[in-house]
Amino acid sequence: MESATGKMIIFSAPSGSGKTTLVRHLLKTFPNRIDFSISATSRAKRGVEENGKDYYYLTRDEFMRRVENGDFLEWEEVYAGTHYGTLKSEVERVWSTGKAVIFDIDVEGGLNLKSQFGDKALAVFVMPPSIHILEQRLNSRSTDSKESIERRIAKAEKELETASLFDVSILNENLEAACIRAEEVVMDFLNKK
Ligand code: 5GP
Repeated sequence: MESATGKMIIFSAPSGSGKTTLVRHLLKTFPNRIDFSISATSRAKRGVEENGKDYYYLTRDEFMRRVENGDFLEWEEVYAGTHYGTLKSEVERVWSTGKAVIFDIDVEGGLNLKSQFGDKALAVFVMPPSIHILEQRLNSRSTDSKESIERRIAKAEKELETASLFDVSILNENLEAACIRAEEVVMDFLNKK
């Protein structure tokens, strides 16, 4: 099997579109070919999340110190006061195993990585069926406060306008169909020279 070192697969979408579910599905389907880029964040741990698995949880000061140190490939204040970023060391860790790196990242961060890595990156936008359904999904997840959901919906409306800037858009209306489509686009990309 050809090495996927140097390749990246970016999944971006408004929060609640199901991109995390799709990324998890891909990791289970192709465990020998892709691995997850664990982002750093200054937000608090949620539910059953684990440090070093879902995120590297940093204090705000530690996060900013690493920004100044030039440790990030990209970083952003995704929500006011809450930072997220991709550590260079994390991408190198995955590439050193001969696998492609897969990201679950917000739209701006995804487009930032795409502009840095060009054809080495596959940028996928996960499209929710509608804003209304997105709101229902966020409410039923019951891990976010009302204010947090309102912020996420306001951001989603803007993010939907950027879908055409991605290489591929996958509609997530039916999860099974979306998983199959995701497998297809990722396989095509990994098998490309
Ligand atoms: P959550 O708080 O729901 O885990 O994530 C909030 C948003 O931050 C999601 O859209 C998620 O994809 C995004 N995100 C996670 N990691 C990164 C990252 O490393 N960089 C950027 N720019 N966004 C990220």
